[in-house]
Amino acid sequence: MSYLFITNLSIRNFRNIPALDLAPGPGVNIIYGDNAQGKTNLIEALYLLTGQKSFRQTKESEFVRFGEKKAQIIAAFSGGSRDQEVSLTLEGGKRSALLNDLPLSVGELTGRFFAVVFSPSELSLVQDGPSQRRAFLDGAITQVMPRYQKTMADLSRVLFQRNNLLYDVARHPGMDETLLEVWDRSFAKLSYSIINARVRYLTRLAPFGEEIYRGISGGKEALSMAYQCSIPGEWGSLGEQEGEALILSALEKNRREDLKNSCTTIGPHRDDLDLRVNGVSARAFGSQGQQRSCALTLKLAECRVIREVSGEQPVLLLDDVLSELDKTRRDYLLSGLAPGQLFITCCDRSGFSSIREGITWRIREGQLAAKRRITPKKKKE
Ligand code: ATP
Ligand code: MG
Repeated sequence: MSYLFITNLSIRNFRNIPALDLAPGPGVNIIYGDNAQGKTNLIEALYLLTGQKSFRQTKESEFVRFGEKKAQIIAAFSGGSRDQEVSLTLEGGKRSALLNDLPLSVGELTGRFFAVVFSPSELSLVQDGPSQRRAFLDGAITQVMPRYQKTMADLSRVLFQRNNLLYDVARHPGMDETLLEVWDRSFAKLSYSIINARVRYLTRLAPFGEEIYRGISGGKEALSMAYQCSIPGEWGSLGEQEGEALILSALEKNRREDLKNSCTTIGPHRDDLDLRVNGVSARAFGSQGQQRSCALTLKLAECRVIREVSGEQPVLLLDDVLSELDKTRRDYLLSGLAPGQLFITCCDRSGFSSIREGITWRIREGQLAAKRRITPKKKKE
């Protein structure tokens, strides 16, 4: 088992960062500074190297520094047991990528450079509706199974067509419904693939999540997670044919309801991930700190699955998590995690006073200063 870590990072004209060169350590790297100095921007730049969309709601054209035409992010990293280099150029609202000097599509970076991010917006994972949790599952599955993205895109297309047809049939009673059956079959096939992938992914994720949450809460609380499917069934143990047949019969039973609403009311686009702390819903009853710990746990567990599947521990990017966590939870993050490269941002030094080993930098107006290396104190004899 190896772990992926960045040895050199160079950023040019990305958001408020004019030029930044950084040689991070293989363990904990802390970036601290006042508000609006570029902490999240740095985390975002790193995350974009995964080839995924930003975790911020943003337009591609907004990445480039005001007044500039082009931004660039280059990272030398050790991964796949060799030294590699990934380069991302953002220009004219478009991204282009190079891996070891060879051009490839940005999407192809997924599965080659691994990073998992946690930012304050991730709290919505626990607090908001099911779509956030589905998006988490789908993004996490894509990192370890890039072709899953196509299945998701195919399902959206089929869903769109099926819903349009439902609308037409509802408005023209007596219209031939056989075409609907054709879309039902495509929908059932894709839905089975998606439900199956999600349930299997959760089987891997849940034990890691339980273990991590126990660690974060100092052994005081227990997290459990389960896939909540809008089509009841023994998902995970159903074969393809049985699963598709179950979905088809559910669609048939639900057809009047679907016609009434002109939309498909059951399927993977309506499913949820149930998260419970000590047996009760984290969304309905969790405290702010518990909800944050839950969301963080999902991300840390995602790292463990990537490690299990790819053999590489991804880079972990934690934006602004320390200030809201109590000491037990902070200590767990700074020293209780499995080995791997970690970037953490926070506003001031008090957030990481308990760190035993790592490197810290202060960021101001998009530039790094005050590098400090913290080494473990020798125990007195
Ligand atoms: P906080 O502690 O408040 O989260 P932060 O250090 O994480 O602060 P960032 O979100 O990284 O701050 O943003 C820093 C600054 O970057 C903001 O003031 C923002 O206006 C600026 N900024 C964002 N996009 C661009 C851009 N394209 N060009 C120049 N500056 C930008
Ligand atoms: Mg920030």
